[in-house]
Amino acid sequence: MLRSLEELKKDIVEIGRLAYQKGWVAANDGNFSVRLEDNTILCTPTMISKGMMTPDDLIIVNMDGHKVSGRGERTSEIAMHLTIYSMRPDIGGVVHVHPPVATGFAVAGKPLNRAVLPEVIISLGSVPLAEYGLPGTPALTAGMIPLIPNYDALLMASHGAVCYGRTVWDAFFKMETVEHFARINLVAELLGGPRLLPRGEVEKLFESRSRYGISSNARMQPGNPIVAEDTAAAPELPAGVSREALLALIDEALMSRG
Ligand SMILES: [Zn+2]
Repeated sequence: MLRSLEELKKDIVEIGRLAYQKGWVAANDGNFSVRLEDNTILCTPTMISKGMMTPDDLIIVNMDGHKVSGRGERTSEIAMHLTIYSMRPDIGGVVHVHPPVATGFAVAGKPLNRAVLPEVIISLGSVPLAEYGLPGTPALTAGMIPLIPNYDALLMASHGAVCYGRTVWDAFFKMETVEHFARINLVAELLGGPRLLPRGEVEKLFESRSRYGISSNARMQPGNPIVAEDTAAAPELPAGVSREALLALIDEALMSRG
């Protein structure tokens, strides 16, 4: 059964409260939206804590981003939401926040794209890193556009993360998986780095999605996620020697031979 507008407003208010409690947002950060039946978008307002909203704070815009109803100003990141809805007819809800560990990976320029945890491979495939774009401008979405068709969760370089799903709750739980996965990756790095799953096992996980009723656009493709064989194929460098230093040594050796 479809949820009423009042229920959908309550969903966004509740997700805002949870995101704030989880520390995924500070001050007025973050924005959430839901696609309504008439293809208008229910979204959060700008300049308000997402942990303290009421249903009356929410705003409805059309697919051009113009306000249809609501008393405040719509989120400044509405263009990102509209881009996702227009590229993905299957998407009904979008969650954008700055969860600290996943955002740490985004700030360090590291995607969460290694085959490490079965649940993450089944639900998300992998989480790539979209190039940086100035928030509140079309540049923000430019780096995401090539990725949106093939993934349901993105890290945004030097910024945060965005997830989208059939419902806004689906998007919220994907974000929970992203942040949990980022924390596990961080701990594994501290312990010497994660051991990656082999390609055959990753293929089985992708195939098992239908058993779990998971519909996702994220398909297995070369390098996404990175599997054990991908790293084994990379030439091992002697410990403590960077690739650049090694190339310089080779150059030097070649030159000395004339
Ligand atoms: Zn943001």
